[in-house]
Parts: sequence; structure tokens; C-alpha cells
Amino acid sequence: MNRVAARAGICLLLVALLLFGMVFFLFEYAVNADAWVVFPGSPHVYNGGNIGCGIVTDRDGVVLLNMSDGRIYAQAEDLRKSMVHWLGDRKGNVYAPALSVYSEQLAGYDFLNGLYAYGRIGGTAKLTLSATVQQEALKAFGDYKGTIGVYNYKTGELLCAVSTPNYDPDNPPDISDDTTGKYDGLYVNRFTQSNYVPGSIFKIVTLAAALESIPDIQEQSFICKGSYDIGKDTITCTGKHGRQDIKQAFRNSCNCAFAQIAEQLGKDTLTLYVEQFGVVESLSFDGITTAAGKYDVSQASQFSLAWSSIGQYTDLVNPCGFMTFVGTIAAGGKGVKPYLVESITSDNMTTHKGKGQSGDRIMSAATADIIREFMAYNVSDKYGSDNFPGLTVCAKTGTAEVGGEKKPNAWMTGFVADEEYPLAFVVVVEDGGYGREICMPILSKVLEACKQSMIKNG
Ligand SMILES: [Zn+2]
Repeated sequence: MNRVAARAGICLLLVALLLFGMVFFLFEYAVNADAWVVFPGSPHVYNGGNIGCGIVTDRDGVVLLNMSDGRIYAQAEDLRKSMVHWLGDRKGNVYAPALSVYSEQLAGYDFLNGLYAYGRIGGTAKLTLSATVQQEALKAFGDYKGTIGVYNYKTGELLCAVSTPNYDPDNPPDISDDTTGKYDGLYVNRFTQSNYVPGSIFKIVTLAAALESIPDIQEQSFICKGSYDIGKDTITCTGKHGRQDIKQAFRNSCNCAFAQIAEQLGKDTLTLYVEQFGVVESLSFDGITTAAGKYDVSQASQFSLAWSSIGQYTDLVNPCGFMTFVGTIAAGGKGVKPYLVESITSDNMTTHKGKGQSGDRIMSAATADIIREFMAYNVSDKYGSDNFPGLTVCAKTGTAEVGGEKKPNAWMTGFVADEEYPLAFVVVVEDGGYGREICMPILSKVLEACKQSMIKNG
């Protein structure tokens, strides 16, 4: 009898263990199944650290990367190069966060059906980028290093974002022995991951702070004799601009006038507005986190504060972040953040729909209007409207001194004011020299390509 009872006891114990195991498994499955499916070690989903299933297209359906059987990039070499920082490569030298963050949808996984698309092609991610614009931007950049970005400031769609240098993922260069420096930062997406000295494009920030906080700023005049003394130190200007109002000083990009404006603002007020404008904040969209910039005048003298107001001193900005700031001005002081993934579809179902995240109001609509008028004047009176046929472009250039043997970084940022082409842009060319000379021809071609892409899309 005792033996039977003992056996029954063992059976019960085994049943209890089985039940416990099943409950444990189901619980783990419910909590972790999605993570198991897209576990980075899973050969079905990843290769070389990058996602390895699904299809990626541009905004028009042009296939950029087909991962249903291996990793097949676009046919055109220039398209492969222009997209490598967004799609990643076979070895994982360039990581593609925007694809990995949607790995479940690209693998064709959902909780109820499991890997329902397994063995088939998985999901299709449509990006907001335009293949033709990317190719045009790559060509326009030539051998320069730097980046260009253009987004729709009403919807947030990122139409163009190219980082140079880049490379063909089908024919990656061996950079280990390179001493020429031409591959410096090859794997870095300069648009989202880098920081640059802003130079005179930062005058947009100082201008906005002045318009928001100094009631009579537009009635004031500023004298430029080619230099301006602060204590024992001297701010130098690019010319002798004489007496100017703030609009003319902005058009002249007059360092002396902006040094005087910075003195009126003071470091606390300027810091407060830099924070309010979000100029140096990191942005997050589609699994991407942009590099934060820097504005720190806590230890600055009056002289250094003046340099900080014109984008020198220790100032740093990220190109994507600055483009978003300028796009927010274009949108009237409250705008949307950029995004990259338009949609993901799988088996005719849309499993993700992209949308630009709404930003906070960063300045009054009245201030945004005045800046728009000033930036339009820069183009019509100085840079030349005929560089942008059929578009009303508002812009500011910059020539940022970086020290050493290098030529300044050339910048141009701004937006198109026309209702049908709500595009904001940023271009930075490293070791480029004067902003206007270097950036304008690139920008002119890229904005035209964006315009054509928008016409094609209705
Ligand atoms: Zn001046």
C-alpha cells in the first residue's frame, strides 16, 4: 500500500512539475516571444548586426534593399552609396537603427500568428526618402565631406539625407591602411550623429532671442566699423557695415551688430532661449537618436558670450537638429519633427504608419514671421533668387572657423516659403570655405530635385 501511495505521490509531483513548466513557458512566451523572434543572434532576422529580412523601398516604391534572400541592394551604384548610412551594410560597419526598430514588422511577426510571413518575403518598409533626390544630392556634393538634409516641415517627411563620404556596400573599401584621410568618419551618418561648429547660421538663434525679448530691437541701430571692442578684446567683422538696423545686420551677417545684441541679451537670457528653441536638443524618431549639440556660456566672459552668439566659442549643433529648428520657424513657431519610415506593410496589411511627431511652440508666430521675412530678404537681396527658379527660398549662410589648417565649414540653412513646397533644409560642407559659394550650387540642385519629386507625387 505504501509503495502504491509513494508511486502516486511521484506521479502527482511529475504532473505538478509539467503544469508548472507549461505555465512558466506560456508566461515567458507571452512576455518574450517578440524578443526571441527578433533576437540579434537569429539568422532568420539578422545578418552582420543588421536586420536581414523584408524589403526596403524609397517613397516611390523603388527597391533599395531586398533581404528576402540574402542582402540585395539597389542596381545603381550611386543609389547604394547615398543610402548606405540608412540601410547598413553586410558587416555591420554601418548600423541601421531605423530598420532594426521595426524588426518585428519586417520579419512578418505578430503575437497571435507567430512568424506568419516566415519563408516568404516578410514586411516591406517604405522610407520617406526619394531615390532620385538622394542620387542628385550625392552627385552635387562631389568629393566634399559633409551632409545635406531636406524635410517637409508640414508633415515631417525626410525627403533627402545624404552623408559623405560614403561607400558602396557591394564593394566596401579597405580603409585600414588609408593615410589620405578621405575615409575619415566613413561609417558615421553625419546628418544624425555628428556635431559641427555652426558659425553664422547661429545668428538665426540670437536674432530669434532678440525678437522675443527686446521690445524695441527693430527700432535700434548698430554701428559696425569693422571691429567692436569688448574690454581689452576685439570682435572682428567681415566688412565695415556702418549703421544698420537688425534686418540689415542679419543680411550683412555683421559680427559687430550681433556682439552688441548679445550684450543686451546677456548669457542667462540667451541660454534660456537656446533651450526653449531646442536647437541643441537630441531628437528621436524611428529608433534614431540624433547627437545633442552644445551651448554652454556658464564660464564665458562677455567677449566669449559675443562669439557664442555668432556660432563660435564652444557652440556645436547637429545638422538634423538645426534643420528641425529652422523648419519650425517656417511652420510659424510650432512644427513637426522629421521621420524616416513612411509605412510597413506585410501581406497587404499596414503594420506601421509613420507620422511626424508634433513639437512644442518654441517662439511666437509673430517672431517666426519676422525671421521668415529677414531670411527671404537675405536671398532676394544678397544670395540671389535666380539660384532657385520657381521657389521662394529663405536662407542664412554660415562660414564656421574650425581652427588648424582647415578651411572653414560652409553652411546654408533655411526653407522654401511656398505653400506647395514646404521644404526646410540644411547643408554643411567640411573644409569648404565660404557658405554661399560652396553650398548654394548643391542646394539649388537638390531643392529642384525635391520639387520634381513632389510634383510627381501630386
Ligand atoms: Zn559688420
